Amino acid sequence: MDINEIKTHFRRIPKAPLGFFPTPLYRLDRLSAELGINLYIKRDDFSGMSLFGGNKIRKLEYLLGDAKRLNCDTVFTYGATQSNHAMQTVTACRRLGLTPILYLVAIVPPDENDLRANLLLDKLLGAEIHIVYQKPDETEADAEERSFLLAREHMARLNAQGHHCYDVPMGGASPIGSAAFIEGYVELYEQLHALGAHPDVIFHATGTGGTMAGLVAGRKLLGDKDTHIVSVNVSAKDDAAYRTMGAELANRALSFLDFSVRTAPEDFQLDLDHYAPGYEQPNPAAAEAIRLLARTEGLLLDPVYTGKAFAGMLTRIRDGRVPQGSNVVFWHTGGATALFAEKEILGEIE
Ligand SMILES: *Cc1c(COP(=O)(O)O)cnc(C)c1O
Repeated sequence: MDINEIKTHFRRIPKAPLGFFPTPLYRLDRLSAELGINLYIKRDDFSGMSLFGGNKIRKLEYLLGDAKRLNCDTVFTYGATQSNHAMQTVTACRRLGLTPILYLVAIVPPDENDLRANLLLDKLLGAEIHIVYQKPDETEADAEERSFLLAREHMARLNAQGHHCYDVPMGGASPIGSAAFIEGYVELYEQLHALGAHPDVIFHATGTGGTMAGLVAGRKLLGDKDTHIVSVNVSAKDDAAYRTMGAELANRALSFLDFSVRTAPEDFQLDLDHYAPGYEQPNPAAAEAIRLLARTEGLLLDPVYTGKAFAGMLTRIRDGRVPQGSNVVFWHTGGATALFAEKEILGEIE
């Protein structure tokens, strides 16, 4: 599909301008030479609007644009206590004059007398924070489910008092949020085109799947069959179920934007070899990736998302699955505040 025609579809939906787009794209010369490929980095960690932006800002431009359209005054969202998404949602709410309310699950229980990283920023930004501690008989998923129920009751109480609440799902993973990453893919395509390069493979970290769904939908829309997108998981997932979820989300985003193109589960490619032992649990390969990028290029990754994704990319370059001379894009999704989180999350990176 023609790129200018594609762009008209984005202009029709309400958007809250929050970040600085397009985010930079450039070649990492020193690491490219070391790895024998052309490595480009897409700096969504520079999305703005605070110093601690990341991939959620793209989604929030459309999500909170929708909240404004609906005349909402209060925004609810969810995540772990160190959620990047929750913190970015709070900054975006402040910018737009909306009241942020967070329901956060304590996967790594915070020390209330020594708040760190994103939870510290949530406090500083004055968000209303509800921490949901996992009960002994509960799984992480159960505690998450309970946080949604508690929030739903809270929303009902506020709505009864005359407030208008907007519910942003965990990670901003909704058709509206993913639509922003369809636009993000188009943005990358134009930047690479201007450099005379075509991507062979794009790597990014995937959690809730909203970013992945948008990127894969964007590729399909542009008919970019020769580009692989490898989505590196940051927690345990069932491969087939996750790809089915990704395709459904992508298709709802495409339909929301009034495109007739659709994706299928086969369009998605996961890496499930680099998340272990689990979400917010560090591993040596990610620590090595963080050190390598820091020491060759002066750039920072984080132990929860981008470090694991970068490790997944390095494995595939080193074992030849990504051939020498390939054009590779690493989509930097942010998350550096985790470098200042609890030691259990950081691991051994020095
Ligand atoms: C949320 C997040 C991701 C994953 O994005 P999803 O759209 O939730 O899959 C990747 N990297 C960072 C730093 C994040 O905060």
